[in-house]
Parts: sequence; C-alpha cells; structure tokens
Amino acid sequence: MNESSASKIVGPDAATLTERSRLSFDLDIDIAVVGAGLAGLTVALEAARLGASVAVLEGRHVGWNASGHQLGTVMPGYGLPIGDLIARIGFEDTRELWALSREGAEFVRANATEEWMPGIALSEGALVVSNVEAGDELIARLQMLGEDFETEVEGWQVDRVRAELRTDHYFHGVYYPKAFQIDGRKYVHGLAALARRAGARIFEETPVVSIDPSGIRKRIVTPSARLRASHIVLAGNIHLGAPLRRLSETLLPVWRYAAVTAPLGMRLAEAIAFQGSVTDSDGIDQFRVVEGDRLMWASPETTWAANPARFAPAIARRIRTIFPQLGGVEISEVWSGAIGQTVHGMPQIGQLRKGLWVASGFGRHGLNTTAMAGQLIARSILWGDERWRLFSPFELVWAGGATGRVAGYAIGMWERGSSAAAGALARYRERARSRERAAEARLAEANRKAGTRPPQRRPPPGRPRPQPPEPANREGEGTS
Ligand SMILES: Cc1cc2nc3c(=O)[nH]c(=O)nc-3n(C[C@H](O)[C@H](O)[C@H](O)COP(=O)(O)OP(=O)(O)OC[C@H]3O[C@@H](n4cnc5c(N)ncnc54)[C@H](O)[C@@H]3O)c2cc1C
Repeated sequence: MNESSASKIVGPDAATLTERSRLSFDLDIDIAVVGAGLAGLTVALEAARLGASVAVLEGRHVGWNASGHQLGTVMPGYGLPIGDLIARIGFEDTRELWALSREGAEFVRANATEEWMPGIALSEGALVVSNVEAGDELIARLQMLGEDFETEVEGWQVDRVRAELRTDHYFHGVYYPKAFQIDGRKYVHGLAALARRAGARIFEETPVVSIDPSGIRKRIVTPSARLRASHIVLAGNIHLGAPLRRLSETLLPVWRYAAVTAPLGMRLAEAIAFQGSVTDSDGIDQFRVVEGDRLMWASPETTWAANPARFAPAIARRIRTIFPQLGGVEISEVWSGAIGQTVHGMPQIGQLRKGLWVASGFGRHGLNTTAMAGQLIARSILWGDERWRLFSPFELVWAGGATGRVAGYAIGMWERGSSAAAGALARYRERARSRERAAEARLAEANRKAGTRPPQRRPPPGRPRPQPPEPANREGEGTS
C-alpha cells in the first residue's frame, strides 16, 4: 500500500478516529468485506441491517483513502456522460441505471441526517457550469434529464450563472436543486458508526493478504487471523493488491488534490454568491464556499502519489485564474486521495464468481455510486435482487499497468489543455462579439443622428455575394 496516498497538512478527521481494533482471533461469518471506504462500509451497513453477520477488514483505518478526503457533493449520475451510456447500452437500461444512481444519492441523504451524523452540515443544490458556450447542448440535456430521466434540473443562462459566480470563465449552467453536499470527510466515519450500530464489526489495521474464493466457505488470511465467510466483497479500490492483483490492475489510479483557503472575508461573497457545489463541465475544478468565507477547491490530479503540500500553490493559482478579484489566497489545508478510474468510466459492481463480489472503480462520482453498489450487493446476497446485472456490460478491462498510467496522465493533461483552450476561445469570441455589438450600436446611433442608413456589410473578398433567396416552391418543399 502506498503510504502517501492520503497525506495532508492538517488532519481534519483525526478527532473522529476512535478505538481501532485489529482482528486478532479467527472468525466465521456470513459476509467479509475488504476495505472500509464508502463502498465497503455501505455493503456492511446494508447487509447488517438485513440481518447478516458481517466483518469489515481494513488495512489502515476507516476512510484512509479517497473516502475520508472527498468534497461531499452528492449528485445523481456516473462518470460516463448520459449520452455515452445510451449509445453503449440503450435507452431503457440507461434509464434504470440512472434511477439507481438517484437511489444511491437518496440513501446518502437518509443517512446524513443531523440525528445520525451530528455536524454533517447538509445543504442543498449543485451547479454544473460549462467552460464553453453550449446553449443548444444545454437545452437538449435539460430536456432529456427532466422528461426522460425524472431528474429535477434548471437551465441557467450565462447572465444567471455570472450573477452567482462572478467570472467570465463560465457560460451556461445546469442547476440540480435536489443535489446536496455534506461534510464529506465526516460522512465516512458516520457511516462506520451506523454500520457498527447495525451489528457489523469493523477491524482496522487488518490488511487482507490473501483469499481463497473456491468452495462454499471462502477463506481469508490476515497477518494475525483467519476468516471463513460465504461471501467476500472486494471493496479495496486501487490498493487491493495481493488478494486479487489482477483486479487492482483494471483501475487507473488518479490522485486528486484539494484545499481549503484561510477565511477570505467579504471579498469571497462578492465573487461567489452561490452556496452549493460547483463543478465545471470538463470535470477540472470543483469548489464551494465552506464555513461562511472559506473556499474549498479540488483541482489538480496526478497518476502517481505525491506530497499534497506541493500542490497548495497550484490550487491558489487556479483559484486566482478563475476569480482574479480574490487576489492571492492563503491555503490553510491541503490533502489528497486516490480514486480508481475504470477504462470505460463506469464502476465495477457485481459477482466475479459465486460468492466473490467486487465494488470499486467509482471515480470522482463515489458518494452516490458507492451507496448504490452497497445496497445492490447486500440485497443480492440476502434477497436475490439481481439488478447489479445492469452493470454486466461494463467488464473488467485491464487499465494498462505502468504504461497505462503514463498514457492516462498524458491523455488527462491533453484533455485539460484542450478544454482550457476551448474555454479561452469561447471567452475571446464573447469579448469580440460584445465589442462588435458596441461598435454597431455606436454606428447606428451616429447614423440615426445624421439621418443616414447604415452601410451594408460587404462579404469578405473571394467569397460569393449572397444572392436573394428564390421564391419558395411550396409544392417541392421537403422533397429532393
Ligand atoms: C479530493 C477528492 C474529492 C472528491 N470529491 C467527491 C465528491 O464531492 N463527490 C463524490 O461523489 N465523490 C468524490 N470523490 C470520489 C470518492 O471519494 C471516491 O469515489 C470514493 O471514496 C471511493 O470509495 P471506495 O470505498 O471505493 O475506495 P477507498 O476510499 O479507496 O476505500 C478503500 C479502502 O480499502 C482499503 N483496502 C484496500 N486493500 C485492502 C486490503 N488488501 N486489505 C484491507 N483493506 C484494504 C484501503 O485502505 C481503503 O481504506 C472525491 C475524491 C477525492 C480524492
């Protein structure tokens, strides 16, 4: 396991890391879960609620990796855009998958109440903003989400977006009033507490070093104990390692870095009025206002583990690029977590062989999708619910090992570079158009005063002059 995958300058969750118990005796149970991240803990919670005996084996501690270092935005959907999903598996199955992703989000909402998780700070609304002008695409997306996928959405025009986010970097936006955000780094510990309360046992500092999935009772070996279980759920994400190395190699590890600024006072309110989560359509930046006047921001990514502190200046620069009026911001905390990216962009949810399950590859959309995966797997084991089969078209595809990481990074950088260029071009065009409109208005005003007609624009040299249209031939209209 990589030591530095989740290091940070200040530990936000240190206080919540309570009694860690290591497994030191042999156990016989119904379900053994490998990994105490969001995925493993949700399986454990749901299976324990349904009456199974469950043990979670965690090599480090609850929420050690991505699950304890995420930003807490909960939205429906997946990493793969809805149009690509329809192209791949058809409209009806996409609708079902989308409905499952909404159920996942609602499962998180039901858990993240002040009663169950005090201080979880749930607030409503998320905005996805476009880095380029995409009005037509936006309308098509809104119609599809609203009419076909029963998701409440609002389309925001550029003016509305810019009234809330004072930057010319963003154009249109899709607002999800039912999406919400929570204190992401607290949620995973709340989930562990709920799972324990439901009867699941969670053992930390207990790495699984090997599994034998053959036979009805499967065997698990840890450094200090052995377990037997009817079902094993592999929820170790990119760090699974020895128990099933081939499975880890189907994920491209991506370290994502995030930070919180020092208090920014009134200048933050002047720059950002919107209080929900903001994500750009290229998935580069994700941010929101926290604690009244601080900004929480996630942006840079690498395909290798690096010290998060190194990325504080890059995040500060990125904030200044998008909101120059904030000036230089002081970063008070920075951290990272590694997400597992699949080749096809969809999570890995299902049964690898009888009694051996996988729940990983949740990418940046982990809150709703891990919740959904946990429910699907527990309900399949205990109730025979077969809906996890909707994920069968998304097979385990080798992510390319070390070469894949380099290629993934290069592709990621190229995509970021080209979307930044597209954004710059869109802003340039917008400025040019408004200059042109202002010039035309001045000319029209001058002509009005002088009592002359504005001159007709000449087509550029070399292009044929547009001819006046022929009178329409009604009989022939629509035929060729
Ligand atoms: C900076 C950042 C911001 C994010 N923001 C959001 C957001 O706002 N909204 C959202 O939906 N998603 C977000 N995500 C994504 C989300 O955090 C992940 O998709 C999700 O946490 C993945 O959960 P997991 O349980 O699969 O994996 P992990 O969190 O990696 O958990 C796996 C656990 O398994 C353990 N393990 C592995 N192998 C073994 C073994 N052999 N034996 C024992 N234990 C083992 C590991 O120690 C680890 O604790 C963000 C991620 C990052 C990094």
